[in-house]
Amino acid sequence: MHIVKRVLVTGGAGFLGAHLCERLLNDGCDVLCVDNFFTGAKSNVAHLIGNPNFEIIRHDVTFPLYLEIDEIYNLACPASPIHYQHDPVQTTKTSVHGAINMLGLAKRTGAKIFQASTSEVYGDPEVHPQPESYVGSVNPIGPRSCYDEGKRCAETLFFDYYRQHKVSIKVARIFNTYGPKMHPNDGRVVSNFITQALMDNPITIYGDGSQTRSFCYVDDLIDGFIILMNSADEVTGPINLGNPVEFSIRELAERVIELTGSGSEIIFKPLPGDDPKQRKPDITKAKELGWEPVIQLDKGLVSTIDYFKTLDLEYIFKK
Ligand code: NAD
Ligand code: UDP
Ligand code: UDP
Repeated sequence: MHIVKRVLVTGGAGFLGAHLCERLLNDGCDVLCVDNFFTGAKSNVAHLIGNPNFEIIRHDVTFPLYLEIDEIYNLACPASPIHYQHDPVQTTKTSVHGAINMLGLAKRTGAKIFQASTSEVYGDPEVHPQPESYVGSVNPIGPRSCYDEGKRCAETLFFDYYRQHKVSIKVARIFNTYGPKMHPNDGRVVSNFITQALMDNPITIYGDGSQTRSFCYVDDLIDGFIILMNSADEVTGPINLGNPVEFSIRELAERVIELTGSGSEIIFKPLPGDDPKQRKPDITKAKELGWEPVIQLDKGLVSTIDYFKTLDLEYIFKK
């Protein structure tokens, strides 16, 4: 082990990856950010370029990567439905071939490897809230399958590399997360509602808005990543990381309208295919590691709204 820990972050120029790179640099690590900029942007990490402990490499994780590192955070994968359904074959390749390559790299170097898995592995759950032991209810051939099944197969690979090759793994199942650096136009609910409210456009609720999600603020989530990565060797996960406070989509729309002071009206649109009706993490296991989200929705929304106010939304949405 080197005195300065060399940490690879795949998908490091994305929403979560950029926050993670910043956190790792603050913690004194040497950070290698790998990204093909499919959904990420150099602007997310531009402020880190020039830091002697930060390096950025344009690379697609579906191809092999030979580096010498101590830890890997494997985040590369588009996360919003619009992005991952844009090229679904590439999404599956990124999850599956990306996992094989990063696990091969971990195996060769002896690095510890963290996987950004997702609550989508539970599909449209029949169990509520979802504990890690719930095996899920996933459609293998629907529009979300490239992402859901890709991430499920990645988990399979992680556990097989762990059992077969003794690779040290940490698998996190991330639930809906929001915060500054989210893509303004990736179609996710928090970014949609905030940008619509700030532009005084109608707030688009899909379905009747009674479906629920639990929203975790990004800083809380990144704390969870670090705690899980530094946990005892026998802790492999999967571990749910998310905020267990559940809101209906209609409640979220109302909070955003109030906090932005917007004059937007609410309109209703058809619910997309395979849209889960309820989602809330059981975080008992994460709590046992000493992690629990502390940032309440209103506080996190205010920071996120402040971030979106710095963007030229009229220009972004004209393109
Ligand atoms: P994001 O789209 O902002 O970031 C993904 C990053 O991966 C982008 O920078 C993108 O350019 C990069 N990427 C995509 N394909 C790649 C490839 N083949 N090679 C190299 N880089 C590639 O998404 P995010 O919200 O930051 O999500 C990060 C990870 O966390 C993803 O794996 C996602 O599945 C997982 N996750 C996120 C959430 C959430 O709410 N944000 C929830 C569950 C899981
Ligand atoms: N790999 C990589 N970097 C490395 C080592 C391996 O990208 O430092 C890739 C390589 O493409 C390989 C894959 O990881 O195909 C899986 O590696 P593993 O050693 O498990 O399998 P094998 O080399 O036998 O296919
Ligand atoms: N949603 C909505 N209006 C929007 C965008 C999303 O009502 O403008 C709904 C969507 O149908 C889903 C929930 O909000 O029920 C969360 O959607 P998102 O795409 O953010 O995440 P996921 O479905 O992956 O949890």
